[in-house]
Amino acid sequence: MSTKVVKFGGSSLADANQFVKVAKIIKSDESRRYVVPSAPGKRYSKDTKVTDMLYACYDAAARGADFTEMFEAIVARYMGIVRELGLPIEDLLVREFSTIRMSFLARAGRDYAASRGEYLNGIVLAKYLGFEFVDAAEVIFFGEDGKLKLKETCHAVHERLSPLKNAVVPGFYGSMPNDTVKTFSRGGSDITGAIVAAAMNADLYENWTDISGYLVCDPRIVPDPEPVNIITYRELRELAYMGAQVFHEDAIFPVRQAGIPINIRNTNRPEDEGTLIVEEAPEDTTPYVITGIAGKKGFVTVTIEKDMMNSELGFGRRVLEAFEDHGVSFEHMPSGIDTMSIIVHKDEFEAVEKEIIEDIKTTCKPDRIEIDRDVALLAVVGRGMKSQRGTAARIFAALAHAKVNVKMIDQGSSELNVIVGVRSEDFETSVKAVYDIFVVQKL
Ligand code: ASP
Repeated sequence: MSTKVVKFGGSSLADANQFVKVAKIIKSDESRRYVVPSAPGKRYSKDTKVTDMLYACYDAAARGADFTEMFEAIVARYMGIVRELGLPIEDLLVREFSTIRMSFLARAGRDYAASRGEYLNGIVLAKYLGFEFVDAAEVIFFGEDGKLKLKETCHAVHERLSPLKNAVVPGFYGSMPNDTVKTFSRGGSDITGAIVAAAMNADLYENWTDISGYLVCDPRIVPDPEPVNIITYRELRELAYMGAQVFHEDAIFPVRQAGIPINIRNTNRPEDEGTLIVEEAPEDTTPYVITGIAGKKGFVTVTIEKDMMNSELGFGRRVLEAFEDHGVSFEHMPSGIDTMSIIVHKDEFEAVEKEIIEDIKTTCKPDRIEIDRDVALLAVVGRGMKSQRGTAARIFAALAHAKVNVKMIDQGSSELNVIVGVRSEDFETSVKAVYDIFVVQKL
């Protein structure tokens, strides 16, 4: 029998009704053996995630303030779920909450506090499914330096879960060498799911959320964009870097290394296939030439001009050093014969702008420095671009037709990605134009 590891995000487990959907999904496929839940998320847009309630409550406790009301609101979330599900575990939860309350008073730490969201949800879900509960603190280990010990962790997870037909392992946390609890960064249950999948050598890692996977572009810009059915890890990396975030980036490594595909699925629309993330996919598996369009506003271009720059040894290094010395990393660096442009994040750059410009003036003696503070970057990504002639021409024709002035072009030699710099106010128009030409007109 094949083995699937299934992770459910916070919105998938926000209330009893969502638990019912989740159980139905799990029970409909015997190979969905190991389950990794997040803490209950938002039930409606203005709601608060349990994780955020726990952080706020613990902060109040640590300040010595009265946290009773906040604590009771958290208790109420779980009690509401178990009562509605008809699960006879209220006494068990009362005992768990009493331990948690004492630990808050004893200043057990913010990570411990936040982790209780997943811990309790894991207990509830395990009972509801009739699966064994395995505390993540028993099997997920961090080193003294706070980094995940992947090898030891995979070994421990494998040893503990192999004898079990089914199990629930709460996401988001593990333990430190001194047995205190440590969490991953926010959204880190994705990482736990990936670790469990790798450790159990799963055939598939299903990541259930509230959208049907990746879309060709942001639905806030183009209404109802087409879904992406298959995407490679490299394409995903390009799109995620440019802001298309569905999945925690750190969660990719363990499964990618183990050669396990990830399937992003929608708990509220289980009939949708979602997006399959794979190592390699034939070029003809994309219905369009491109796989996705992403991008971000908020970049600055610093253009440095100097006559005969190209023959001055070490010029580029000195320019980049000025940025590096002030902790600003550069995103792109298109260059001409006597010009060099450095594209950086606006917030990072503006905080140390004066110092960087002074350094460049001193070490490089440029003829001119020009700063453009109004740049948005658009990334057009697709494994299908390589075998198609004229892709770049079509992108630029679409932008010209939409009256967008292109400020910068950067195409990696992998031909997987064309990055275009435009004015911030042209960003949405640009995304629409590129979507239209490749996806609507299928050119
Ligand atoms: N509950 C945690 C968070 O809100 C972790 C997760 O949901 O993945 O960040």
